[in-house]
Amino acid sequence: MIIGVPKEIRPGEERVALTPANIAALLKKHDIQILVETGAGVAAGFTDGQYEAAGAKLADRDQIFSSAQAILQVQTPGSNTTNGQDDLDKMKSGQFLIGMTDPLANPGFAQQLAQSNVTGIALELVPRITRAQAMDVLSSMAMIAGYKCVLLAATTANRMFPMNMTAAGTLNASRVFVMGAGVAGLQACATAKRLGAVVEAYDVRPAAREQILSVGAKPVELDLDTGEAEGSGGYAKAQGEDFLKRQRELMTDVIKDMDVVITTAAVPGAKSPILVTADMVKAMKQGSVIVDLAAERGGNCELTQSGKTVIEHGVTIIGPENVPSSVPHHASQMFGKNMENLLNLLLDDQGELALDFEDQIVADTVISHNGDVPHTRLRELLG
Ligand code: NAD
Repeated sequence: MIIGVPKEIRPGEERVALTPANIAALLKKHDIQILVETGAGVAAGFTDGQYEAAGAKLADRDQIFSSAQAILQVQTPGSNTTNGQDDLDKMKSGQFLIGMTDPLANPGFAQQLAQSNVTGIALELVPRITRAQAMDVLSSMAMIAGYKCVLLAATTANRMFPMNMTAAGTLNASRVFVMGAGVAGLQACATAKRLGAVVEAYDVRPAAREQILSVGAKPVELDLDTGEAEGSGGYAKAQGEDFLKRQRELMTDVIKDMDVVITTAAVPGAKSPILVTADMVKAMKQGSVIVDLAAERGGNCELTQSGKTVIEHGVTIIGPENVPSSVPHHASQMFGKNMENLLNLLLDDQGELALDFEDQIVADTVISHNGDVPHTRLRELLG
């Protein structure tokens, strides 16, 4: 079969769905051809020459959409609602589309693909089982975002992170507080720690305590009943408003002493919980910084504006969008490896994509097939 990798078109997207190394590895294993759009990897630091040397053929966008049986994208039209429609219009009956589709926030995309008889595979739905870890783009990208958000905070803060004893006096270490200790939060803790900050973190999931300690940060304990906070796959369950209200009351006291607050709390398929209210921001130190990694899902801070940096009550609040794309080389390296591993599972001996719905990875990730939406959760969301 022919696999196509078009250049990403969502504004600001610098990643690419396969790197030259992934292509060389796939061509070695499978009887397939891979077309890559000219310039597709340039923003991520992969040249056309490197793709050709790896065995890919360079092509233009229209050629890729018309001749490839499978299109691989970082941001499919499902997650690229800005200008993705152009690509959707190019898709043909019988084709596969594999990439991020924002399935839980945009379930209607599965229906659109089904109407065009395109088989859609949403990478965000890769299950959290050991066998699928190597295909889990959410974890890969969260790791990158957790690292980068600390750098954003460090370069915005009006103080340094490490303690310094100098002839001109002692500079205290910055205090960093991370809310939500999942993959991004733990990487944020580790990165802030490496930069010399004093790091504390909090999560609703009781299991996070050990993980916070393991990256050298101090778990913050709140007098809250979090017994049932963990749902399936290690994800947090959505908390009720009473819980969140009490959490905010207790948290006010913690964050008023912090120099940097990083929020990463997410609940899959739901709007992010508000952990930091305007009043809590008001109580923070002048010159402190909040980086809200949940900005794109409504934000964990009430005052966050997605895609903007604002100063409120003397606190700088950064609401970055698409953070992994700002580290495009390593983000593509990880994304591409996840994609390569998934293709290794799906490609059969003839180099064709074969879907075995008995396999949990297939059943959980295929959002449209044979003109239908086979995915139970998406069907429920579609009503
Ligand atoms: P996520 O991106 O869904 O959310 C980030 C964090 O926010 C989570 O730790 C969550 O508990 C926390 N959170 C939600 N509501 C909160 C609130 N009100 N207050 C404070 N924190 C809140 O999470 P994630 O990074 O995907 O990771 C969640 C868990 O799943 C972690 O334990 C992670 O190690 C695990 N995980 C397992 C696998 C696997 O088994 N293959 C893969 C990835 C992650």
